[in-house]
Amino acid sequence: MNITRAKEILKRQFGYDSFRMNQEQAIETVLQKNDCVVLMPTGGGKSLCYQIPALMLDGLTVVISPLIALMKDQVDALKNNGVEAAFLNSSQTSREQTEVFQAVRSGKLKLLYVAPERLLQTGDQFIDFLKSVSVSLFAIDEAHCISSWGHDFRPEYIQLGKLKRYFPDVPLIALTATADKLVRHDIVERLTIRNAALFVSSFNRPNIFYKIEQKRNSYPRLLEYLEPRRQESGIIYCLSRNSAESLAADLRDEGFDALPYHAGLDKETRDKNQSLFLKDEVKIIVATIAFGMGIDKSNVRFVVHMDLPKNIESYYQETGRAGRDGLQSEALLFFSWGDVNKLKGFAEVEGNKSQSEIMLKKLNTMGAFGDLKTCRRRFLLNYFSEDLIEDCGRCDNCNTVFERFDGTIIAQKALSAVARTGQRFGLSYLIDFLRGSQAKTIRDEHKNLKTYGIGVDVSKNNWFDYFKDLIAQGYLAQTEGTYPTIVLTDQSEAVLKGQTPVELFKVTIREDRKPSLVSPLEHEYLKDLFDELRLVRTAFAKAENVPPYVVFSDATLIEMATYLPNKEDEMRKISGVGDLKLQKYAADFLETIVDYCDRNNLTSRINLKTPKREPKKRTIRDGNGQTTYDVSLDMFKSGLSIPEIAESRGVAVSTVETHLVRFIPSGEVRLDDLVATDKIETIRNAITSLNAGFAIAPVKEFLGDNYSYGEIRAVLVTM
Ligand code: ADP
Ligand code: ZN
Repeated sequence: MNITRAKEILKRQFGYDSFRMNQEQAIETVLQKNDCVVLMPTGGGKSLCYQIPALMLDGLTVVISPLIALMKDQVDALKNNGVEAAFLNSSQTSREQTEVFQAVRSGKLKLLYVAPERLLQTGDQFIDFLKSVSVSLFAIDEAHCISSWGHDFRPEYIQLGKLKRYFPDVPLIALTATADKLVRHDIVERLTIRNAALFVSSFNRPNIFYKIEQKRNSYPRLLEYLEPRRQESGIIYCLSRNSAESLAADLRDEGFDALPYHAGLDKETRDKNQSLFLKDEVKIIVATIAFGMGIDKSNVRFVVHMDLPKNIESYYQETGRAGRDGLQSEALLFFSWGDVNKLKGFAEVEGNKSQSEIMLKKLNTMGAFGDLKTCRRRFLLNYFSEDLIEDCGRCDNCNTVFERFDGTIIAQKALSAVARTGQRFGLSYLIDFLRGSQAKTIRDEHKNLKTYGIGVDVSKNNWFDYFKDLIAQGYLAQTEGTYPTIVLTDQSEAVLKGQTPVELFKVTIREDRKPSLVSPLEHEYLKDLFDELRLVRTAFAKAENVPPYVVFSDATLIEMATYLPNKEDEMRKISGVGDLKLQKYAADFLETIVDYCDRNNLTSRINLKTPKREPKKRTIRDGNGQTTYDVSLDMFKSGLSIPEIAESRGVAVSTVETHLVRFIPSGEVRLDDLVATDKIETIRNAITSLNAGFAIAPVKEFLGDNYSYGEIRAVLVTM
């Protein structure tokens, strides 16, 4: 009964057809006047869990939120759905505050947002005031702030424990996007709501595509990445203020619409940049982690990490700012083990050994995530104690196509470049040489060689990968020392003479940028109509001085640009169009759509609008013909050990290791299949600290007999 009414309100007032995740259960609990704790990922829809009961219960719902900067937008958004709401915080004049008090007394107001310090001021004045009016519900947003285990502890939240004492009969709902069990426990204890029902939603963010690239030439790579995304909003995270500042400036020089945000900027500039971003007036924010808490922008299409986050929690939270509207979005991280080492210093908590250890462990897990060859989402969810039944099909590793191809010609080009230049040069030089670089560093006598420029058709990054592969396969080697050079090996000659074919890997990531895969919509939307609708929205947003999403979210506009509602009753079927918005905005949006349809000979497609569909199943790719490597791989997969394979094939153990190492990049063989886990870290540290590039010998010498060439090579290919 109650829920039927709640559903009506969901549609009429907010314009949505059905509840998400645990919204329905949470609402039901609150309506029965019981306490509850709601854990839902960012963008999951926590607000409706208290907003809908607020409308159904007699009296006032008090929302406690630490995000003063957000209160106005939240209240504007509610008002725009026809809900009577207000906020009280230090940013208001006393006159404005008096008006709010009057509105509360008059009983008109359904929701009041306050900061925690305001609620529990000395003398309990405000509490007394609340007692004099009728409070129906307390909602505590960002409830993890109450826990010192959390990443955002706020001492003033501790005081909220008193609420239950003052208002034992008023239900309390605590909401957070932090899944940690310790934090959860603290929330219940400190708010003294031990009988609270607990609703934990999945932390999966299915519409975010996770992607990691090696941190190498990351700036040009970033430009390449941003180019096709000029129309989209995104956040780029950097470790330091300086790099945020200079990256934003560089991007502006390249014609991108980017502004910096970090704690070193004065408050005015920071607020201005943030607000321009929220209003879609600037597309890209280049930020340190200071940016984000309280960013309620639903159409962030990508989040890029130029540097490694300190732990999985931060990564999840920062990438989680993408795609709150449910549309397809991306998270891209530039990863290197060098970053892990760099961050080790920061992980040290002075005078606290055990805390330092926890931080280091978290950092190493972050490193493992960067290095992962299997499904990223599975790993992430696992970290938060959740299981994914099958690989997601929506991360780089699930979408990586490893094509093994005949790389003989490429190998010959690389080897002859090494030979012709006298085996005296390093990797960068050779790649520049092969690509015919005009740089002054290339010696004049080399520019006359036949091999100069024969590799222009291969990108720098690909050359880098091919060299790495050639070294791993023993066709080339790298010397030790401060300036390691690439040299030929006893296997080189046969390749140069064309006696040995060479197989190389080509790695491509299939990106599915069509919204159809994950958007709730089954059909393609009309991009140009969407752009027109955005203009209409901007005009309303400007006139009302609110962020565009307060008018309609991107998801709502995309539905319009998909189903082409031509009449008011069709418009009502679009998700996000409630009664008030229908009244206020429908006419203008309808006019734009009808006009577009006339121009393009289209009619309404509203009858295509059906409930959600199942996500596509992933198809499995198959490989090429069998090579000697494949034979070893197949035997390995069938459960034989490396010595057994060696024995049965009549080859050396090290040969089998070499075969199998080749399948590490593709994830067909896992690093820990070949190297004991406790050895991996030691090998990795040795490689890093010796700074030996691709040279294996010095690492072997350093580590001694307990470590084989095969093990070192295996770790090397993951770095
Ligand atoms: P959170 O506070 O959990 O980060 P919000 O409450 O801000 O998330 O909701 C995120 C977005 O999802 C908002 O645009 C909201 O209007 C929308 N939303 C919430 N519940 C639903 C629903 N049941 N159906 C469709 N959209 C919803
Ligand atoms: Zn995956």
